[in-house]
This record gives sequence, C-alpha cells and structure tokens, in this order.
Amino acid sequence: MKAAVSLDWLLAGFMGLLLPIAPLVASILARDSAYLWDYRRSLVKSAGHLRSQVRSRAFSRYVLYGRLHKPVGETERETERETLVGECTHCGNCCMHRSCVFLDWSPEGASRCRIYNSSFWKQLACGRYPESSLDIALYDCPSFTAVPPGKPAAGVQVIPVVAIHDRE
Ligand code: SF4
Ligand code: SF4
Repeated sequence: MKAAVSLDWLLAGFMGLLLPIAPLVASILARDSAYLWDYRRSLVKSAGHLRSQVRSRAFSRYVLYGRLHKPVGETERETERETLVGECTHCGNCCMHRSCVFLDWSPEGASRCRIYNSSFWKQLACGRYPESSLDIALYDCPSFTAVPPGKPAAGVQVIPVVAIHDRE
C-alpha cells in the first residue's frame, strides 16, 4: 500500500518538474491554443490538477485496484459481481474532484470534457468510471449506486458508463 501511495507522489513530483510546459501540452492535447495564450491561468489549473491527481490516487488505485481498499473477507469474485446502476448527471466530481485541466462546463452547468474521445482520452480511466462502490465513494458520485452481490437490481435501468463523459 505504501508503495502505491509513493508511486502517486513520485509521478506527481516528476510531473511537477514539467509544470512550466503543462499549458503547452494541454494546448496540444485539447487542440486549443487558449491554454497557451492564458498561460498563467493554465499553470494554476495544472497545479490544481496535479494536487487532485495525488488526492484521488489516480495512478495507484488502478494499479492496485481491489487490493488497496478491499474490506476484510471480501473476495475478488464478490467485487466483480457488484452491479452499478444510475445515470450520470454531469456534476464533474469524478473529473479529479472538478480540478481536471480538461474539465469544461456547459452554459447549463453540466460537466464536459475538452478531450473527450481523443486517442489520449481513450488511454485514461475516465471512460470506465465508476467501476465499483469504491469508485463511487472516492469521488462522492451522487448519481450511481452499487448493488451488492446477490441483490438483483430489479426494475432499475443499468446505464453503460462508457458514454457518460460526452462533451456535447
Ligand atoms: S473525463 Fe475529461 S475532464 Fe474528466 S477527468 Fe477525464 S480528461 Fe479530465
Ligand atoms: S459519473 Fe458521477 S461523479 Fe462523475 S460526473 Fe457523473 S454524476 Fe458526477
């Protein structure tokens, strides 16, 4: 567990060294020069992104998924049988606690991703959220519920979570 947390700090430290070029990288990834033109603001947002990355253990929780927070006595198989139900309301919580540098908001206040469906985005874990009750708890998602193993979610519609981050 300590090794996993160290991994987060190590990667955050490395990325911290690259912080001055973060606006340029964000510009390229989002194909939006606004990150570069508003350099100072982008830098502040990138620093916030990095802080949240550590807070949410963005790296280690997927490396050690299921081991880090698994309650005593729970088996891997039982975790896999959990059923997730709900529909995303675009609150933005799961976007690094609303600190992701690519997070945008619609005029109605719904979260949108500025790199949604790009090849870079597809490498991230964003499209898989939430995968379990642990994920739901981590970002305090108000819209999904985990139905424990053995309790069928009768009458509840299961929404594919892969489509929840649509930028439109
Ligand atoms: S979906 Fe987009 S805005 Fe949300 S965390 Fe992922 S990259 Fe950031
Ligand atoms: S999945 Fe949950 S936490 Fe993420 S934006 Fe939707 S409602 Fe918010």
